[in-house]
Amino acid sequence: MIDVLTFDLDDTFWENYPVMARTEPGHYEWLDRQIGHAATFPLEEYQQRRLEFAKRHPVRRGDFTWVRRETLREMLIEFGLPTDEAARWASEAIEHMLELRHDIIVFEEVPAMLVTLSGQYRLGAITNGNVDLRRLDIGKAFDVIINAGEFLAPKPDARAFLSALARMGHTPPSRAMHVGDSWQEDVLPAYRLGMKVAWIDAKNEHHSCPEGIYRLTHIRELPALLERIDHAN
Ligand SMILES: [Mg+2]
Repeated sequence: MIDVLTFDLDDTFWENYPVMARTEPGHYEWLDRQIGHAATFPLEEYQQRRLEFAKRHPVRRGDFTWVRRETLREMLIEFGLPTDEAARWASEAIEHMLELRHDIIVFEEVPAMLVTLSGQYRLGAITNGNVDLRRLDIGKAFDVIINAGEFLAPKPDARAFLSALARMGHTPPSRAMHVGDSWQEDVLPAYRLGMKVAWIDAKNEHHSCPEGIYRLTHIRELPALLERIDHAN
């Protein structure tokens, strides 16, 4: 019997590559049009500096929005802007980045599926990314939304899963299923906690699945899987 479903977001409810392919250059070019910094600091430099910044701040490395803003702020000071202006432009660029980040095309089956599932299960979302599900229409279906990176415990850390279950009626892991695409960040940690797992293997990775891990190729296959599990019990 399953009472709770928790979901990953990126590459589970939408394809994330095209989103990031617009977001990454999009906000940087926007900033360049305002202040002309990109000839001195090309996009690759910003990306490299983000990795280095994250290494210097291991505890908060999973808070991608913060890492971006602070990297940009430091870089703009080096570019020669006064401290307060650097902070202001960094914040504005990040606002622009977040706009683009939420310009998402959810797989077409997802909205209706979530409406149905939310009548049968309690739904939670656990993401390492910086999408704020409350900004999307489908966010309404969820009881609990956890941005695990900003929570300083990105998946595969078990704490986001435990927190979600605790906040949904202290549901035992055995009565919950996690749905996600990453073997390392979704499947293994949820399985080790004793949750059931629906693994969206969109990349065709072919891990062998022990009992309790169900391989799907697309989120649209989830309702049929849940019916099968329900009938088996
Ligand atoms: Mg994912």
